[in-house]
Amino acid sequence: MKRFLVAGELNLDLILRNYLSFPALGQETLVEDVTLTLGSSSAICAAGLAKLANLVVFTGKVGMDSWGLQCLESLARLGVDASRVMRDAAVKTGITVSITSPRDRAMVTYLGAMAAMRADEIIAGGLEGFDHLHVASVFLQRSLRPGLKALLELAHARGLTTSIDPGFDPEEKWGRDVIDLLDHVDVFLPNEVELRGLTGLRDPEQGLRALENGRTLTVAKLGGDGCAVMADGTFMRVAAFRVEAVDTTGAGDSFNAGFLHAWLGGQDPATRRSLAHPAGAGNLHAALRFAAACGALSTLAAGGTGAQATEAQARAFLDGVA
Ligand code: ADP
Repeated sequence: MKRFLVAGELNLDLILRNYLSFPALGQETLVEDVTLTLGSSSAICAAGLAKLANLVVFTGKVGMDSWGLQCLESLARLGVDASRVMRDAAVKTGITVSITSPRDRAMVTYLGAMAAMRADEIIAGGLEGFDHLHVASVFLQRSLRPGLKALLELAHARGLTTSIDPGFDPEEKWGRDVIDLLDHVDVFLPNEVELRGLTGLRDPEQGLRALENGRTLTVAKLGGDGCAVMADGTFMRVAAFRVEAVDTTGAGDSFNAGFLHAWLGGQDPATRRSLAHPAGAGNLHAALRFAAACGALSTLAAGGTGAQATEAQARAFLDGVA
């Protein structure tokens, strides 16, 4: 069991399912179903880590409103310690409205409290007692971004390993500062679109090569095409597992949880990131397969946290496909 501090955004998702016609200005349309549930990439990853029997503390911000309370209650129900989530009367809890059809969905986000947490507030809460710091949705966490480098540096100085999932940049500006953070990041977890946005390169292998800095292990999530990693100049690809997906929301976040759990769990730190070392390459391959199993299993029920795997479930799945 490892101790994780997850510093992330918190929001509710209002999911309006199966519209009659897509909303247009001046008209009203109906949907078949509605759900108000915990959204947030960071929270789905935190819940995945908790399901894998890790100790997970979440730090983030919500408003002093009922939506904020619902976020806190959901985290607690998912086994995540929410005692370091700050409630701030000056902001409103963020929300994403997702208007879906079986084919696609449109999303509208109000950032609110997601953009309000600062690095100094996380530092003031302390980094002691944790093995790992994970930060997700960097582009949504606007107040955290300027102090993120200092936070990651401090985490390393305190002996924690660190990971970042950049998430999508709604402004699509991307920005060099996120790449500059990587000197202080052990594991970087972009998906294909984010890797392309950050590097300007379409081909994942080229994108991964462009980010090589001799320190960071970058894992690119490629949806149905699996994932790819570059370490020590060596490229490795691991296929996705075939499952009858019900809902792929948060598959990348469950993948992150599986990867961080397997990568940190009981491996020799010296070989963790090395593909040149046979033990390192074997460990990394095993961790990527475990992550892919967690990603695939998470798609088997609606919502990001409905079907997240326990360690035993992920291992049984892997044994079944071996
Ligand atoms: P993100 O949600 O960040 O865009 P991906 O869609 O790439 O991330 O999903 C992360 C991982 O989850 C993939 O690499 C794959 O292993 C697994 N995964 C995602 N969607 C599916 C699917 N439909 N079937 C099986 N595995 C999937």
